[in-house]
Amino acid sequence: MNHIDRENQTMGKMVGIYCRAHHHTKDELCDDCAQFLDYAEVRLEKCPYGEDKPTCANCPVHCYKPHFRAQAKAIMRFSGPRMLLRHPLLTIAHYMDGRRRALHPRELTREQRLEKTGRFPTLGDHDR
Ligand code: SF4
Repeated sequence: MNHIDRENQTMGKMVGIYCRAHHHTKDELCDDCAQFLDYAEVRLEKCPYGEDKPTCANCPVHCYKPHFRAQAKAIMRFSGPRMLLRHPLLTIAHYMDGRRRALHPRELTREQRLEKTGRFPTLGDHDR
């Protein structure tokens, strides 16, 4: 499994833990959490760091819109401590990713950005 797929999986688990506890759902997410997860998946897909991405918490870009960023913080705060028991391997991998230092995309050369993402991301990418 590649890094982005693993991050998608980790995010899905965390949103599920949060939604079940706060919105009393069972097998499916509520509309609000499903919308958040869709948004997070698009952000991951467009991440300028590609496979070398840091954790979003340690990212110098913070591409999330403020509303979704606040939602992400609430989800991480609640689900983070609960992940270790339920999904230890994903949690350890996420911890290791958290030790990765990331340069701001402006510090990368065009060639480095192309190598990471297969395209030349612009700052406008982060507003979508
Ligand atoms: S740019 Fe930063 S905040 Fe956005 S998905 Fe990539 S690592 Fe996460």
